[in-house]
This record gives sequence, C-alpha cells and structure tokens, in this order.
Amino acid sequence: MRVLLVEDELDLGAAIERVLSREKYIVDWVQDGTSAWDYLDNPTTQYILAIVDWMLPGLSGIELCQRLRARRSPLPVLILTARDSIEDRVVGLDAGADDYLVKPFGMAELLARLRALQRRSTQVPASQLQVSNLLLDYGKSEVFVQDEAGNPQAIPLTAKEFQLLEYFMKHPNQILTRDQIENRLWDLQAEPTSNVVAAQIRLLRRKLAKYNCEGLIETVYGLGYRLNLTYAPE
Ligand code: CA
Repeated sequence: MRVLLVEDELDLGAAIERVLSREKYIVDWVQDGTSAWDYLDNPTTQYILAIVDWMLPGLSGIELCQRLRARRSPLPVLILTARDSIEDRVVGLDAGADDYLVKPFGMAELLARLRALQRRSTQVPASQLQVSNLLLDYGKSEVFVQDEAGNPQAIPLTAKEFQLLEYFMKHPNQILTRDQIENRLWDLQAEPTSNVVAAQIRLLRRKLAKYNCEGLIETVYGLGYRLNLTYAPE
C-alpha cells in the first residue's frame, strides 16, 4: 500500500509519515510540488492514494490534482490545507480532489479519511496493468518495461501491438487461441487472412526482443499462444 505524501511543513510531514508507516503504508514523502509530479509521473510508482498539501513550493496541490485529472488518472487525492472557506473547498473539489482535510487535524481523522478513500477507489477502473516487468499505462496508452537499473522504458508499439499485448497481459499464463485473438483484435467484418494473428505476434515479439523480453509470449503448438510468466530474461 504505497502512498505519496506531499507536505512542506517538516514537523507535520514527519508526523504523518510516522503514523502511516505504523499503519503499514509505504510512504514516499516529498516536500515540493515539482518533485511530487516527478513521482506521480513515473509509471513504476503505483500509489493507492496521494495526500497533498494545498500550498507548496513549485506546483500547488491544486495544480497537481488538475494535472492528474487531465491525464485521467483515477488516483484518489486528499488535500490538506489551512484554508477553510466554502469557496476554497469548491476550488479543491473542482480541481479533482476527492476529499479535503482542514489543518489542524487529528491523526485518527486522517486515517479514517484514507480508509474511506480506499474503499471508494476500489470501484475506479484500473489505470494501469502490471504483469511481470511490464507496466501498461492506459492514460498514456503505452507499455513500459523495466531495464536492469529499474528504470521504465517505453516500448514503441503500434495500436494493434498495444491491443495484442494488453490482451495477453489481461490473461497471463493462459493459452489464447488464434480465433480468440482474431475475434478480439479484428472486427468480424474485416475478415482477416489466416495468418494475420501469427504475423502480428511476430511483429510484437520483434519489439519485445529489443527489451530482452522476446520469450515472454510463447507459441503453444497446435493450441495458440501464451504470455509465460515463468519466462525469465537472461
Ligand atoms: Ca504548505
């Protein structure tokens, strides 16, 4: 349960970090809006929610919210602020914040709000799909692979290759027949030629090979294809 905490008041930030760590959250604490965006923009950081102070050096908490929502990120955001007028609340909620906590507050209330946000966010469709060392980001329509240093690299995929890889990532370790793939990726009117699936898989494997992942999608002879999670790059 990884949480991003953005708070420039050092005492308050440290206190929140301590309480959340005790509750078994993994906390990334940053103290300005620009670093916060770097963390949020990194496709390998998978936060379940963000706690964001309104007034921050760099980008404000409101600007962070707006950027997230512009990208259609469903990440739940709790705004912390000393502001307490109705207008301010409206600005915060309009910017895409999910909840709003006025300073000073008790840690018990913060924890209760976080639990409520988590309960609500389970109904939000996933924005990302992670399988093995691949991360599919729906907001960016890109698939990233982690290199040896742990940094995400975007794999340049065509729309069809993206759809094909998504289909495999949604069904890891499961054999998908040629017909299943064909029906899924091509509309029925298109009447694809008999080897179009094989050709598309060949193209996708060629892309994956550049990232040391060519064995990830294996042929199961006579049956179809499978994304093999036990495959380990050399
Ligand atoms: Ca502040």
